[in-house]
Amino acid sequence: MSQRSSAGSSGLPSRSSQVGVPCRCWCGGEIRTYTSKTEENPCRRFYRCVVGVKEKKEKHMFRWVDDAVLEEIRMVESKQNQLLEDLKKMVTNNVELQKEMVKEMEEKMEKNMIEIIRQELMVAKESMEKSNKQRICVLFVLAVSMAWLYKKMI
Ligand SMILES: [Zn+2]
Repeated sequence: MSQRSSAGSSGLPSRSSQVGVPCRCWCGGEIRTYTSKTEENPCRRFYRCVVGVKEKKEKHMFRWVDDAVLEEIRMVESKQNQLLEDLKKMVTNNVELQKEMVKEMEEKMEKNMIEIIRQELMVAKESMEKSNKQRICVLFVLAVSMAWLYKKMI
């Protein structure tokens, strides 16, 4: 799960796109938590880039811990919802796919059956023709021999 969440930003995280609990600053610097000592936010915890602590003029990662945690929770929630939606879609798609497969199989089986019946009919027809020819042959031989015998008798 943690690997998936960082997917898409293979390099260093950009300044704006990163939400939730920061892992690293855009400069690559490590993120540590500090406690605010200002009057507006006394004792409020915040994340700060270790480089940013020294280089105060540069805009390094800064985020209040409570804000980040809230963002993180919302992200996880939306991800869960997304996962649920995906799962629902997958299940529906699966059912649709199965229906399609069954239909396809039925069609194939029907075609196969028709083909088999057609072949059987062909074979039956051929054998009938063959046996007819044989019968004609037999009849012909019989007729010839009868005629020969008849001639001999006369
Ligand atoms: Zn930094």
